[in-house]
Amino acid sequence: MEASTKNLPFLDLFIIKEGNHITTDLYSKETDTHQYLDFRSCHPSHTKRNIPYNMARRICTIIPNSTLRKKRLEELKIHLIRQHYPENLIDTGIQQAEKIPISELRKTCQKDTKQNNNVPFVVTHNPRNHNILNTAKRFFPILEQSNNMKNVVNSSQIINSRRQAPCLKKLLTRANFSLNKVKYVKKCGDPRCGTCEYIEEGDSITFKSGKILKVNANLNCKSENLIYCATCPTCGENYIGQTNKLNARVRVHKQQVKDPSVRNTPCSEHFAECGGGKFKVFPFFKMWTENEITRKAQEDYFIKLFNPSLLNRK
Ligand SMILES: [Zn+2]
Ligand SMILES: [Zn+2]
Repeated sequence: MEASTKNLPFLDLFIIKEGNHITTDLYSKETDTHQYLDFRSCHPSHTKRNIPYNMARRICTIIPNSTLRKKRLEELKIHLIRQHYPENLIDTGIQQAEKIPISELRKTCQKDTKQNNNVPFVVTHNPRNHNILNTAKRFFPILEQSNNMKNVVNSSQIINSRRQAPCLKKLLTRANFSLNKVKYVKKCGDPRCGTCEYIEEGDSITFKSGKILKVNANLNCKSENLIYCATCPTCGENYIGQTNKLNARVRVHKQQVKDPSVRNTPCSEHFAECGGGKFKVFPFFKMWTENEITRKAQEDYFIKLFNPSLLNRK
């Protein structure tokens, strides 16, 4: 909380008591680094070209005192030059804003009711893209042949609108975290399920090497697209595999362990001999895509990371 008998900040205003009236200045926090949109940033040119004018306009609206206003406009110019705006663009923007009388700037503007009829034509922004709205307009007569579309085309103003393409920040960061939600592996509980008795339940797996991994999703016998670990109940050696359907994969393991004629992997040999025909299955990593190549790459990654002794191939 701030208290003063002389001046106070309020939103972006700094309100100053001067005798028996008040005057206003621009207010920004001490920590404000004034990092306005960089002029080299991939945004529609008109958006960037309007920024100096709009910011100058805000200063002219807020500050009635001409000396103070000049000072703030000069500061604005410094901030914008640092963000790579061309000097003449800044100067023109400032001059345009200065021309408007403060009484005009401070008028409440009435919302244009006609604006409600605007239909945005949305395209993901890319500076190399041709403006396709003009081309699309040539084909509007086709839309007019439909009764539903006729009204949209005729009674509304189609306006160009750009959607920002995903930037690195958007691709690499997330706004919310789910740190506290624990994920579990459970038996499905279906009495006819042949997989339940093989499933090991829990929120994490401890490999023979001692390394621990938490599961990344809630999984059960019926889960799909995942990486799992099969463990020998006698010696605790691990096998890591991938599957698109866990219960079908477990069925194959069971057959191989039970029937020597289809047993062709060191892993099923081990489960038959050392494990006495038994093994435990723990699915631990759910894939975010159904792509088999990605799944196999993920399997390879876990095999390298946890180094299980039982392998599919000799
Ligand atoms: Zn089950
Ligand atoms: Zn064993």
